[in-house]
Amino acid sequence: MMTNSAGGPRYSIVVPVFNEQAVLPVLLHRLDLMMQDVDGVIETIFVDDGSSDCSAIVLRAKAKEDPRYRFIGLSRNFGHQAAITAGMEAASGDAVIVMDADLQDPPEVVGQMIEKWKEGYEVVYGRRLSREGDSTFKKWTASLFYKFLGRLSSVDIPRDAGDFRLIDRKVLDAFLAMPEQDRFVRGMFAWLGFRQTEVAFHRLPRLAGETKYPLLKMLRLAANGVIGFSDAPLRLAIWCGFAVSAFAALYALYVVGHWLAGDTSLVAGWASTIIIVSFLSGMNMIMTGIMGLYVGRIYAEVKRRPLYVVSEKAGFDRAVQSPAQSSRTIDAA
Ligand code: UDP
Ligand code: MG
Repeated sequence: MMTNSAGGPRYSIVVPVFNEQAVLPVLLHRLDLMMQDVDGVIETIFVDDGSSDCSAIVLRAKAKEDPRYRFIGLSRNFGHQAAITAGMEAASGDAVIVMDADLQDPPEVVGQMIEKWKEGYEVVYGRRLSREGDSTFKKWTASLFYKFLGRLSSVDIPRDAGDFRLIDRKVLDAFLAMPEQDRFVRGMFAWLGFRQTEVAFHRLPRLAGETKYPLLKMLRLAANGVIGFSDAPLRLAIWCGFAVSAFAALYALYVVGHWLAGDTSLVAGWASTIIIVSFLSGMNMIMTGIMGLYVGRIYAEVKRRPLYVVSEKAGFDRAVQSPAQSSRTIDAA
């Protein structure tokens, strides 16, 4: 069996689990089959995200009996994004694969991801060709959300891709150096860059049990995506403010025009009140927007993301020599 240079496993699978007892027997069986086919030492890390059913008991027992499995139990439900981060932090493989427990991300696709990794790609994400298990409402809202986020965000977040992906050790280390609290993991990988590619697969309905992403959790994830990867909402107030003030100014011109033309139908005092009130509210909104820009700067600072991420370096390990010097050494030789 092949191990990595440090003697640890070559691949790590990270599976977040929240009340999934109904799927565990089949999941463990399919993982066993997949792990037999992989060309290297492989570990599977289950992260129990505060389940209240028997999931933790089953997975803890599995980790004790089979050395290829590991178990992390979180103290309560911290959410999917925190759970996968915990698993990635504990993973020691050269390539780490994150996968849902409900078999909507088929373990059989992992082999194709590994092929791409060997070709030199550093992030391989699974793109959903179809989403058979999801309701029309979920498909529709998801597609709307990704369109919206794509417009707003400065990085390209792949559409139709969830958190099912293979990550090279180098990218993982950069990811773990991003300490932000509200994590939108798929956005963070898009932000990191590196050589990325996709593997397409058909997403089946979840094998058993029900979704652990009710509407409210989904909305929270979507809000994290928009707020963490775009400052457009902060700039919204400025544009609204300009629009309202401009409207007030135009209306003032209109009223003055009518007054000069000798229009007697104008109600005294009404126009001036409306103009002053809307102009000042517009000013207020502009000021709020300017505050928003500063808040945005503060937000960017406290996220403590690195300024840039280096993918590779060359030539730094040699002493500096001028070309003239090196040719002289060759002449002397
Ligand atoms: N999950 C988790 N913590 C949560 C919610 C979900 O660890 O608070 C896990 C869940 O067990 C599953 C994965 O995240 O392995 C994806 O959840 P789910 O399949 O319910 O989401 P959906 O596929 O419906 O979007
Ligand atoms: Mg699912």
